[in-house]
Amino acid sequence: MKSQEFISREDQYGAHNYHPLPVVLERGEGVYVWDVDGKRYFDFLSSYSAVNQGHCHPGIISTLIEQSKILTLTSRAFYNNVLGEYEEYITKLFGFQKVLPMNTGAEAVETALKLARKWAYLKKGIPQDQAKIITCEGNFHGRTITIVTFSTDPDARKDYGPFTPGFITIPYNNIDALKEAVNDPDVAAFLVEPIQGEAGVFVPDDGFLKKAYDICKASNVLFIADEVQTGLARTGKMLACDHENIHPDMLILGKALSGGVLPVSAVLADDYIMLTIKPGEHGSTFGGNPLACKVAITSLKVLLDEKLAENAAAMGKIFRDEITSIKSDMIELVRGKGLLNAVVIKPKEGKTAWDVCLAMKDNGLIAKPTHGHIIRFAPPLVINKDQMYEAIGIIKDTFRQF
Ligand code: PLP
Repeated sequence: MKSQEFISREDQYGAHNYHPLPVVLERGEGVYVWDVDGKRYFDFLSSYSAVNQGHCHPGIISTLIEQSKILTLTSRAFYNNVLGEYEEYITKLFGFQKVLPMNTGAEAVETALKLARKWAYLKKGIPQDQAKIITCEGNFHGRTITIVTFSTDPDARKDYGPFTPGFITIPYNNIDALKEAVNDPDVAAFLVEPIQGEAGVFVPDDGFLKKAYDICKASNVLFIADEVQTGLARTGKMLACDHENIHPDMLILGKALSGGVLPVSAVLADDYIMLTIKPGEHGSTFGGNPLACKVAITSLKVLLDEKLAENAAAMGKIFRDEITSIKSDMIELVRGKGLLNAVVIKPKEGKTAWDVCLAMKDNGLIAKPTHGHIIRFAPPLVINKDQMYEAIGIIKDTFRQF
């Protein structure tokens, strides 16, 4: 089958809820993916930062195969011999007393919101049904009805109402707005992305997270870090919160927790929060399944063993230095941290970020525009120096074409 036939088939039988770049992938290894015609590309999206460890990492795949032959799913109706091992490993790694395993990022965010409300009523003493959670303009936390309630992207919300009450929106990276918002005694939590990924890689001012954390502490408001995209070595540290040495009250992880092999997400918190949820009050059939647990342990070990945070920091610096030096009137701004970067594109003679992505694809590198005019560049963290310079060469050649 030709690429166009694959595309037409998806178009005919699948919902039209995405607008993919016209490339049909059939194989991946490390930083590379191949299309159905055998053409090789650098993957500079990494499935929205889910394949930080590289495509089909041999260690992760071998864990997947091994465990899938032994036991895959028990549900939480019974104990299994792997869940505890995973729970002990991940809680000790990130310094929390408990973990609650889920599957997708959105489910983990929902879980954190539920925990925040439970804590608000059982511990903080907020009157029933009055709890509020502060969120930021430009956020992206997933696609459920409750999560799109506090999205400020009209496309994410249009025609999906009625929405869930109990959310306050403040501008991102605005300490004064946070200070004012926490004055409300019914505020339970502040939910924040340490860098806004989907919004176009908005990096807040140095010190913002620390100041925000201190404000929350002073007002008995939970600080919830959504590190589904920024976590797990992507920004040059294991967690983006580590750049400012803060330990959130709740940490949300997903995506690269499985190296992109299956949906695995988690909420981490200490007992005073986590034990507010009692048996039967929350859960998921697949959350904490033995296959996911084994894969997650290996995925985390790969990040540490291969020093992928350190590599992300080093390769990210090369990327930003080189891309900043490109002389193109289409490049308005380069920003990011580690290997989570973005280039803001100024359209020229009708050519937009989409056209740049199409041209990069033809030249052997795939990336995707977000919000029309921003291109995110987020390769797998296993990328080495030679590969990085080759990829930068492709990007430079592409801008020269415009
Ligand atoms: N939170 C953040 C910060 C994200 O970037 C995403 C996805 O991009 C999500 C949550 C939702 O994750 P999922 O698509 O696995 O539901």
